[in-house]
Amino acid sequence: MISKKMHEYVKNSSVIRAMFEEGRRLSTIYGAENVYDFSLGNPNLEPPTEVKKAILEILNEEAPTTVHGYMNNSGYEDVRETIAQSINRKFDTQFHKENIIMSVGAGGGLNVIFKTILDPGDEVITFAPFFGEYKNYVANFDATLLVVPPDTETFQPNLEIFESYITKKTKAVLINSPNNPSGVVYSESTLQQLADILYQKQKEMDTTIYLISDEPYRELAYDGIEVPYPTKYYDNTIVGYSFSKSLSLPGERIGYLVIPSEVDDFENMISAANIATRILGFVNAPSLFQKVAAKCLDAKVDLEYYDRNRTLLYDSLRSFGYECIKPQGAFYLFVKSPLEDDGAFCAKAKEKRILLVPGSSFGCPGYVRIAYCVAYETIQRSLPSFQALMEELK
Ligand code: PLP
Repeated sequence: MISKKMHEYVKNSSVIRAMFEEGRRLSTIYGAENVYDFSLGNPNLEPPTEVKKAILEILNEEAPTTVHGYMNNSGYEDVRETIAQSINRKFDTQFHKENIIMSVGAGGGLNVIFKTILDPGDEVITFAPFFGEYKNYVANFDATLLVVPPDTETFQPNLEIFESYITKKTKAVLINSPNNPSGVVYSESTLQQLADILYQKQKEMDTTIYLISDEPYRELAYDGIEVPYPTKYYDNTIVGYSFSKSLSLPGERIGYLVIPSEVDDFENMISAANIATRILGFVNAPSLFQKVAAKCLDAKVDLEYYDRNRTLLYDSLRSFGYECIKPQGAFYLFVKSPLEDDGAFCAKAKEKRILLVPGSSFGCPGYVRIAYCVAYETIQRSLPSFQALMEELK
């Protein structure tokens, strides 16, 4: 018999993954080119050429026992120092290897940090729309995720309501920018106000509240928009970074946590995160790809490709009468569902072989997510179906 907790997870198993499976099923019936699968955030772009070069260099030049062996649970020291210095150059920060813990992607990093700080009954606050897995990650440690309702005008966090959610049980606040699914970048003013509220509440309640910034899309920002570095605004900030999207390496499972020396209980936090990496069973982040990542910190996927997709999709859907804001980052368009019931709209879209994910999966009913990390031609071919869909529903 499986556990009661897993029983629930199986029952509510990811809608996104279910859509992905549905896409594969429809492809076998109608042919892959006649199915417009916008369901999954799986990058369609190849990793930059630097990645393959780095893999070959490492395999040819370094001792296999080092490349494939165990190391410090937090990761190779030289890799962590190289990453710290790269962040310092880009964001004028002052990190060292002690502040970096290599992780098994963003998902692994978030689980490590939650294991490090959460006791049963603690609360973590996040803002809708949000990446649905957060709920599971927090529940892994018997804590609760509270979701602040969305501000659908701007999709910036709704800070007024947020303030009323903070209590003595609040252990962390979890943000994600550029955001999945809205594509919005949280502005400097948002981060500043968030920091002001948190400083005020910490003082008022004599507690520590950590701000956790989940940043797998940091490098995917368009029109030259700046994605502010969150440790600058609030001392108790921890950053979770991933190479899954920035280098198109989601299957390799590589990322890192930044734990600044200024965070409360820093020394214990670093030891605990190191041990959490071990006892969660990760032991360490993948060894070869730690080294690859360190050699590719300035490499980039072809962002212009995503940008072209973004523009084509946004301009076309708007001209058909769909409502949405123009995403500033990531590779998602978050569109107001023409039907009140976003699930019903996704079902209608599926009849036209367009696969979307309902906003309800992101705590934001009434919207749908379109992942545009697909071939440009797929978007082109899908447009008549999007138009016909809107005409039918008008
Ligand atoms: N956080 C967000 C907001 C995501 O969208 C994703 C993946 O899509 C993750 C975390 C997990 O990323 P990773 O593959 O690095 O574990």
